[in-house]
Amino acid sequence: MAATAFAQDTPDPAMVKKIREEGLNHSQVMDIAFHITDVSGPRLSGSPGLKRAQDWVVEKLKSWGMVNTKREDWGKFGKGWEVQKNYAAITVPYYHAIIAIPKAWTPGTGGLIQGDVMYIKADTVTDLDKYKGKIKGKIVIVDARPPAEINFTRPDAARYADTTLEQMAKATAGAPGRRGNFAGRRGNLAGLLALRTALTKFELEEGAALVLSQARGTDGTVFTTNGASYRDTAKAVCPELEVSAEDYQRILRLTKANIKVSMEADIKTEFFTKDLDGYDVVGEIPGTDSKLKAQLVMLGGHLDSWHGATGGTDNAAGAAVMIEAMRILKTIGVKPKRTIRIALWSGEEQGEYGSRNYVINHFADPKDMVLKPEHALVSAYYNLDNGTGKIRGVYLQGNAAAGPIFQSWLEPFKDLGANTVTIRNTGSTDHVPFDAVGIPGFQFIQDPMDYNSRTHHSNQDTYDKISEEDLKQAATIVASFVYNTSERADMIPRKELPKAGAPQGF
Ligand SMILES: [Zn+2]
Repeated sequence: MAATAFAQDTPDPAMVKKIREEGLNHSQVMDIAFHITDVSGPRLSGSPGLKRAQDWVVEKLKSWGMVNTKREDWGKFGKGWEVQKNYAAITVPYYHAIIAIPKAWTPGTGGLIQGDVMYIKADTVTDLDKYKGKIKGKIVIVDARPPAEINFTRPDAARYADTTLEQMAKATAGAPGRRGNFAGRRGNLAGLLALRTALTKFELEEGAALVLSQARGTDGTVFTTNGASYRDTAKAVCPELEVSAEDYQRILRLTKANIKVSMEADIKTEFFTKDLDGYDVVGEIPGTDSKLKAQLVMLGGHLDSWHGATGGTDNAAGAAVMIEAMRILKTIGVKPKRTIRIALWSGEEQGEYGSRNYVINHFADPKDMVLKPEHALVSAYYNLDNGTGKIRGVYLQGNAAAGPIFQSWLEPFKDLGANTVTIRNTGSTDHVPFDAVGIPGFQFIQDPMDYNSRTHHSNQDTYDKISEEDLKQAATIVASFVYNTSERADMIPRKELPKAGAPQGF
């Protein structure tokens, strides 16, 4: 059996050569990434920046001869939002402009405001009572997080060590993936959450002019988060800035020492409520085999980002690789047996909404598992969304039968550092909704680089953090995987069909 599988799945050397030549020596991946990041700007779901990127991708795919290329409505998302002005500085005891980003979906200050910073010390909800009537027009700071731990020893960025990859390859079915166990922290979190909710309400009711919160991150890096919900029914909140740890701690030390700190700020944000729907971008290279062209090979990644930068590694890198893989296949004149469809998702950062709803609209809802006709036609979906790091192999997502196939597909790319196949799952991105309805969905193993330490969701996630060599390598390997999937006699083997309502592992 193994020998037969290997023979069938040995990639065509002439095609590997063509793909490598186009992908490694005539790449356009950095130009694609430039348009998604620098030219389009931040791409928070529902924002004009995301629309600019989507429109550019649609036109680009069309210009290369892709068909059925469009923005596809996946259903209701919520309000769009963008930052239009962002300025904040300490003015007393001396002038210093701070590094800070408005929290997503928070309002602006309504022009330039000036005020004193007020330190609120609250360990419990009742502690807030003593500040009643005292914070109107003030800039509020709390002591919620210990000062950031400066790391003097670990490098910011790293590639996987061979030993780590060997461990991944040796993992057995049922082995835990990368997801952490948060159960032990839950009790404490519930208390903190209740305090936070009460504080948010108190600040609004009492008329605070601006709220400062300390961002996760060091060295001026601000990892951004939501300050309010994107839902059209979201409750009102105060303007809120996520402040770099260094600036936040300076203001906090001064106010706690009873040294007066005054600030000025001018923040303008805009909400977009005309169209509350979310959209994915899709496009195809049509299949040519009379029997197989109705079947699909899908590839994709999310195009939306956070708003503090331009989402270079999360996920312009992955989206650019998938677009480039399509370009490579089209440019070398592939006439695939199966139809190749790219899908670039939105709403990933809020809960994989673009891909989840695409799967529900086209294939099946994991809640009832009533299968639509297209469910039977998708051979595989390949995803890329773990930063700029090159591909080191692939997660099988528990699909053991796909192992030998992918092992032989990686064979021609050993010299590029990709030959690990692991039975392990990886979560938190857009292949999971496919897997959740029994369609083979895979995310590649990527070198971590500085994704977790520096770029993922931060104000440092820019074009500059994208590694050209890594993206070229990834696009070449993805193009080859997609081609092999389109030409294979059989579809990629499937796992057992999940039962309705089964836990989805998001
Ligand atoms: Zn991402």
